[in-house]
Amino acid sequence: METSRKLIRKQSLEKLYNQLSATRKVYAPVIADDKQVEFKYNPGFAEVTFEHIRSTLSVKNIAFPKVENLFLYSNGKTESTITDIDLNKIPEVVLWGSHPCDNAAFDALRSIFEWDIKDEFFSKRMEKLVVIGLSCHLSDAYCFCTSVGLAPNSSKGSDILLSPLHNGDYQADILTEKGASIVNSFSELFESTSGEEVVLTTVKQKFDHEKVTSKLNGAFEHPFWVENSLRCIGCGACAYVCPTCACFDIQDETRGKNGKRYRSWDSCGFSMFTLHTSGHNPRNVQSARWRQRIMHKFSYMPDRNQSLGCVGCGRCSSGCPVDMNIAEQLEALQNI
Ligand code: SF4
Ligand code: SF4
Repeated sequence: METSRKLIRKQSLEKLYNQLSATRKVYAPVIADDKQVEFKYNPGFAEVTFEHIRSTLSVKNIAFPKVENLFLYSNGKTESTITDIDLNKIPEVVLWGSHPCDNAAFDALRSIFEWDIKDEFFSKRMEKLVVIGLSCHLSDAYCFCTSVGLAPNSSKGSDILLSPLHNGDYQADILTEKGASIVNSFSELFESTSGEEVVLTTVKQKFDHEKVTSKLNGAFEHPFWVENSLRCIGCGACAYVCPTCACFDIQDETRGKNGKRYRSWDSCGFSMFTLHTSGHNPRNVQSARWRQRIMHKFSYMPDRNQSLGCVGCGRCSSGCPVDMNIAEQLEALQNI
């Protein structure tokens, strides 16, 4: 589809939000009581923030929920009955005000969940998702989108990308059929562009991701991994906040005759993640687990999925309890 550009005034943006949230689930960022930024379903427009750098958790749970039932079962004396989850009941969701790094992360997730076998749970949720992204006019030292081929106004993953203008209005780039359908439904709220300038932040490039990827080839046994992971406590927070981490565990939970099989987020940073039933653990030290995290995102995924596994959001570094900083490590890795 040919992309197009319109203007939406601040008052019209509020009308658009209110009309969308009157008829659909709209997932938008708010500043919670503890000052953390979190996404909530259908908050009032006055609560929605346009001033956040990053939410504490990413928005990947829309397409890949923390816990998701795969099927239900009931055990009889001689046989079991299985009930599939009705994926047609997954509602349409409008993701509002998510930043370009988080929107690009849906492409990275797609490269995993639709790589060899199409994960129908993920694909259905993506089909029902409309992304109205927001370019960044704020950033901090943890941001490094420009080191992984993105920018504060990248349009990857957005259906409509809003960018703030100096006068308080917004530029709206209409990027997909889904985005065009929203604009057509509320066409009275959109106007021709005015030539007003967009306000964008600047994010310094910290490393060259292609150099990192090429350095990782042959760096498996490098002392870097031990030297740079000694303080990692294996808490898994980096994976849980990450918009592109896709590891999950599958469990059965049975009560009496009935039960459910579900999957839930997991992390390659956990010591039990690769523990075999025999007791053998191929990644039996934290340095091997840290190496896996970096290798997967910057070597295995580019090779196998033609996608990086990182969008430079900086959440893993800002959320790490012992201050492991992935961008600093990648910068060092390109020079080993
Ligand atoms: S958040 Fe920090 S301490 Fe926890 S597993 Fe990740 S790198 Fe290690
Ligand atoms: S690895 Fe860290 S910086 Fe990269 S996408 Fe995940 S949370 Fe963001």
